[in-house]
Amino acid sequence: MLGFDGVLLAGLARDGGLYLPEAIPTLDRATIAGLAGRRYAEVAEGLIAPFTGDCFAPGSLRRMTEGAYAGFRHPAVVPLSQLGDNLFLLELFHGPTLAFKDVAMQLLGRMMEEVLGRRGRRTTVVGATSGDTGAAAIEAFKGLDSVDVVILYPHGRVSEVQRRQMTGVAAANVHVVALEGTFDDCQAIVKALFNHHAFRDETNLSGVNSINWARVLAQIVYFFTGAVALGSPHRAVSFAVPTGNFGDILAGWIAKRMGLPVERLVAATNANDILARCLESGRYEVQGVRATQSPSMDIQVSSNFERLLFEAYGRDAAAVRGLMASLAQSGSFEVAGGAMDRIRAEFDAVRIDEAGTEAEMARTFRDSGVVLDPHTAVGVAAARRTLARDPSTPVIALGTAHPAKFPDAVERATGRRPALPPHLADLLGREERFTVLPNDAAAVEDFIRHRSGAAAKGEVRA
Ligand SMILES: *Cc1c(COP(=O)(O)O)cnc(C)c1O
Repeated sequence: MLGFDGVLLAGLARDGGLYLPEAIPTLDRATIAGLAGRRYAEVAEGLIAPFTGDCFAPGSLRRMTEGAYAGFRHPAVVPLSQLGDNLFLLELFHGPTLAFKDVAMQLLGRMMEEVLGRRGRRTTVVGATSGDTGAAAIEAFKGLDSVDVVILYPHGRVSEVQRRQMTGVAAANVHVVALEGTFDDCQAIVKALFNHHAFRDETNLSGVNSINWARVLAQIVYFFTGAVALGSPHRAVSFAVPTGNFGDILAGWIAKRMGLPVERLVAATNANDILARCLESGRYEVQGVRATQSPSMDIQVSSNFERLLFEAYGRDAAAVRGLMASLAQSGSFEVAGGAMDRIRAEFDAVRIDEAGTEAEMARTFRDSGVVLDPHTAVGVAAARRTLARDPSTPVIALGTAHPAKFPDAVERATGRRPALPPHLADLLGREERFTVLPNDAAAVEDFIRHRSGAAAKGEVRA
């Protein structure tokens, strides 16, 4: 078994699997009630500490949560607003890169820096991005001495603002790759790099995709703060979560297992609806990726679903390995009936198509004057369907991106072109730096060998 620091630095297990804690700590009702009215950084420390064991000295985790959330542009960090009867919006996009990825990445960067410093080590952080993870990781790691950050994004498949947030950063330790493929191709290459153990050791590879457990962990916190703001634990709530890689909604499920009374967890997907199809039919089947106006969710293989399967199969690692092998071989697998029942007991999945996304942006703007980005609109539309079935349980839709990240889609739907906040006002004029590479793991390995300081200086694993 690995300690928290090992899991944090590794990202992906050496056998290709994903890490989960051996046991999930639970909170009693009084403790949950006691979170009400407290500062976000304080709640974060309290919820995360039981998972990190003795990894951080007393006071050190608190300094990290304080630092991570000081740069958010809202005093509540993740404010909750109301859109309608029992319909709420948890605004997770007030961080430096305007997407919810900042909530976890700002903390992850600080945790990694501390652990690397202690070990006197450097690392090469690699990440695949459908647009937002890359920017958030670059923002969190830029300029750090102990880290090189290499980000792979699908060439031509992210919005201009998303691209420029990655390519417009002038820091020597930031290396941006436009891969000639889809997000799933980027993610497959990152996994291949990790499974190539010699390369992994040579470059001290670390992963920051939501396959890194520490990211999921940091995301548990706002499920608590959102629910407690509506009266939890005395009142149950449901969550509608715009979903791609299943990391965010998995964090909600962990929060539920920790004792938070969550009624339904609703995975809101766009036209890339593998999860909605799987919950309907019991068959997880990869189809071609479709480009939508919510590109951060243009994903077919939802990596973190593997973690849920592991639990739904009663932690039967061999069974899950079998499913993953079938996925790699034939692009699909069948979920066993009992496991499927356990998943359906807690999760719903709702598919919102392009017209539905646009209609939701228009409707929310008309009814409440709130401008949603297309990802958040998928979540709000799914929340309305959940309310139609059960009007008495409040539904919190997660607001995953700021509308200014997707100005074209927002303008089409609402007639308003959202402005970038002041700290990004000059973004479109910044010089861009990136390298186009073919969809080929060997080409990416060569690129990393040449760019990363850990490899270039001939340093090896401590
Ligand atoms: C990453 C992202 C999602 C999907 O989150 P997952 O954890 O991958 O399911 C949804 N919306 C936005 C804006 C994102 O950046």
